[in-house]
Amino acid sequence: MSDSIKFSSLDLQPTLLGNLIDIGYQEMTLVQAETLPQMISGSDVLARAKTGSGKTAAFGLGLLNKLDATSFRTQALVLCPTRELADQVAKEIRRLARGILNVKILTLCGGVPLRPQLASLQHSPHIIVGTPGRVLKHLAKETVKVKDLETLVLDEADRMLDMGFHDDIKSIIAQLPKKRQNLLFS
Ligand code: ADP
Ligand code: MG
Repeated sequence: MSDSIKFSSLDLQPTLLGNLIDIGYQEMTLVQAETLPQMISGSDVLARAKTGSGKTAAFGLGLLNKLDATSFRTQALVLCPTRELADQVAKEIRRLARGILNVKILTLCGGVPLRPQLASLQHSPHIIVGTPGRVLKHLAKETVKVKDLETLVLDEADRMLDMGFHDDIKSIIAQLPKKRQNLLFS
């Protein structure tokens, strides 16, 4: 195995690299090898890869690497087409973030009551994973605050458009800081 495809060849935080060893991720998948160097350098990324190719860990590591967990503000927003996908993505990001102290990841999806979400939003999560409709609702209520947002991820972007989320996504983006990193995966 060439060293260039090992996670250790990347300029990732030691905490993240250590945890990757613990969870048994050694070599990067192709989409990870192609996108992580770009993400780490701060560039926007647009990537298309088939199901099961490790896209979640790609953008998950990209956003976690720049996260400041000592600062309790929402720094990353991941939009997904369905609640099931949002749950899966949040679970994978939590696994990748295991070594980081006090990191708070919240899922915000429709089809469930708003009230518990409002309670969870009393203290801003570092990372929000959610579906566009519900995230937009929270932005309107100002229960989600995005003025310090640094990373926007559109996961399964094609599918979100197929499902009619175009306008919601546009309205969300219009409320985000102009200077941010955009990661689009499909
Ligand atoms: P995609 O979003 O591209 O469909 P996922 O992000 O769901 O794919 O990843 C598919 C599976 O691959 C998951 O079970 C994940 O834990 C695993 N995986 C991702 N990256 C690696 C890696 N570098 N080494 C080993 N397993 C990995
Ligand atoms: Mg995926």
